[in-house]
Amino acid sequence: MRAGPSQEDIRRHNLGALLRHVHLGGPISRAELTAKMGLNRSTIMALTSDLTAAGLVREELPRETGRAGRPSLVVRPESSKVYVFAFDVGPDRLAAARVGLGGAILDRRETARRRGPFDLDELAGTLAGFARQMRRKTRADTVCVGAAAAVSGGVRKDDGVIMFGPNLGAEVVPFGEELGRRLGLGLPVSVGNDANLAALAEHSRGVAVAVRDLIYLHGDVGIGGGIITGGHLLGGHDGYGGEVGHMVVNPDGRPCGCGSRGCLEAEVGERALLEAAGRTILPGREGARAVEEAAGRQGRDAVRAVVDAADRGDIVAQEGLKRVGGWLGLGVANLVNIFNPEMVIFGGMLREVYLGSAAQVRSRLATHAMGPQRERLRLRTSALADDATLVGAAELAFAHVLADPLEVLARVTG
Ligand SMILES: [Zn+2]
Repeated sequence: MRAGPSQEDIRRHNLGALLRHVHLGGPISRAELTAKMGLNRSTIMALTSDLTAAGLVREELPRETGRAGRPSLVVRPESSKVYVFAFDVGPDRLAAARVGLGGAILDRRETARRRGPFDLDELAGTLAGFARQMRRKTRADTVCVGAAAAVSGGVRKDDGVIMFGPNLGAEVVPFGEELGRRLGLGLPVSVGNDANLAALAEHSRGVAVAVRDLIYLHGDVGIGGGIITGGHLLGGHDGYGGEVGHMVVNPDGRPCGCGSRGCLEAEVGERALLEAAGRTILPGREGARAVEEAAGRQGRDAVRAVVDAADRGDIVAQEGLKRVGGWLGLGVANLVNIFNPEMVIFGGMLREVYLGSAAQVRSRLATHAMGPQRERLRLRTSALADDATLVGAAELAFAHVLADPLEVLARVTG
């Protein structure tokens, strides 16, 4: 017979749960914590003193209570002292941020990435350099408790190896290990798929707080997805689930980088939009000059330019957006029929695409999504915008701290 959880297990669980409330919800009174966690006042007091002693939270008198009697102390995260490093590797940018407990981005660095093969040395070196710069600016009493990266590709859960990332030019790259070595903090670097992490970010801090069933669609060169059902991210057997970009919407359609034809990504991705809108595409890998010239004609700015042109009455741009919006709507209709989400969120360049083609998306949904699934569905754009992937990476880095706050702190400060 297995023994039940020990007192120590329960305490550890409660410490993590309390810290999670403070981390995600911000300053909260002991009285509210007592009500939310269903624990008695003395237990809450013991837990907050443990976390205060560890330097993870601090307790303060509220500014104003408006009520008679002794006010309940407010528990706040030690945002400026306890932090993680979050990284984002996208087709067009490298970003790094120092994120405090409580979720505030305290510092950040970003640089454009040239499309092409994945240069592990250069990428890991640049990101580690950003982290060193940010670290030099911190006070002596700060402590880094974790690090994580969002990458545009499929990541093996156990060791942070990027198994496939065609839009990054990456195939079987031990990215987490290399970045961890270069950071030299003695901390492992967790790695996750960017769209998955952005979905978690919108769920915990963005447009979908308290939404338990949602689909986040992320567009850059390709289309990625993050599916949260019943409050849990759908990872699949190996963690590669949610690759909605390769759902076929048009069997006779455009060839896709995956070898198939008419995938959502092939019909809706950046290249499809720019071509449908009559923009010239320069073929890739033609030397530095072509890359520089192409920079203005591809990427987010080029997508924005199409949406702006359509707004100003450019017929070709309008037709291109309509065409792409139709395929996007068909993809969303399929997802809505299968997963019955409460919300679908458009992020990355799909934010612009959706805003420019909402009528086509809705019209396809009206035709192809089943009534009951459609009725209460909300379509939204990402609230965290281009920070979604970084915020998601930070949450991944904080996950082990929330699971066992004191153990992590003892390890990183020991
Ligand atoms: Zn495909």
